[in-house]
Amino acid sequence: MPVLVVGSVAFDSIETPFGARSEMLGGAATYFSLAASYFAPVQVIAAVGEDFPDRHRRLLESHGVDLGGLATLPGETFRWSGRYSFDLNARDTLETRLGVFESFAPRVPEGMRRPEFLFLGNIDPDLQRGVLEQVGRPRLVGCDTMNFWIEGKPEALRRTLAGVDLLVINDSEARELAREPNLVRAAAAIRAMGPRTLIVKRGEFGAAAFGATTPFAVPALLLDAVQDPTGAGDSFAGGLMGYLAAHAAGGAAITDGMMRRAIAMGSVMASFTVQSFGVDGLVGLSRERIDERFEQFRRLSHLGEA
Ligand code: AMP
Repeated sequence: MPVLVVGSVAFDSIETPFGARSEMLGGAATYFSLAASYFAPVQVIAAVGEDFPDRHRRLLESHGVDLGGLATLPGETFRWSGRYSFDLNARDTLETRLGVFESFAPRVPEGMRRPEFLFLGNIDPDLQRGVLEQVGRPRLVGCDTMNFWIEGKPEALRRTLAGVDLLVINDSEARELAREPNLVRAAAAIRAMGPRTLIVKRGEFGAAAFGATTPFAVPALLLDAVQDPTGAGDSFAGGLMGYLAAHAAGGAAITDGMMRRAIAMGSVMASFTVQSFGVDGLVGLSRERIDERFEQFRRLSHLGEA
């Protein structure tokens, strides 16, 4: 069952305490697609400029990602640069250059208009809604956003959230979106905006899910070497949505347990991403390595029998 994603495909320039890289392949849709590709076929809706090299396209295609909805427009590819703090828990955006995203009006190709699983990656909420309006009602609509849009386009974001089932954002964004410092109360306020499930990413502390039943929390894997946290959130979302698409195939219900395992798989995919710069940690993985890490994850917080 394919997952359709709209989001940025970008050139990222990143500084962390462990090094700096410029103009790497990045973007929310890129990280999402690579992570999800290990579980389900992925189709991307995005735009790049004429400066986007063929080797990046080939890398995505080698993971089975369908680029039929990736438009090449006159102008520059989206560029983002950021710098991380010593403990990697905080980052400053140094520059955001929208490039072709400034004039991009997403068009979903005919053959991609009936997705069961749709992910609205972190881009302008008006563009996210533009995609939502072109597709038949998907079974599950996931969404990500960030402070740039929460502060810059709050009304447009509210309209988009009304059509979203599952929102995946980080804790500071949740607090900012709800204008509420307490996370539990912020979650209730956000769920009242539309998404029936809210997943709050908490960086190296894991993630918490707020849905119809009791909240659920998972830790993050404890890694001895983290190089670059960029894309962790998008990889988390890719692992999560890919897992759901694979396991809810044929109309199977998305149970609480399935959602928990999907969140754990999101954490597993994020853990691969942060161990290397850019998308390197997500390239060429095997299902064996992924499943092995999933088991490691299961052991991390297993409480044993009483
Ligand atoms: P994450 O670390 O998961 O928050 O995602 C980082 C990715 O988001 C980078 O690869 C950036 O290219 C992309 N990104 C950063 N800012 C924006 C923005 N305003 N709109 C769309 N994508 C962005």
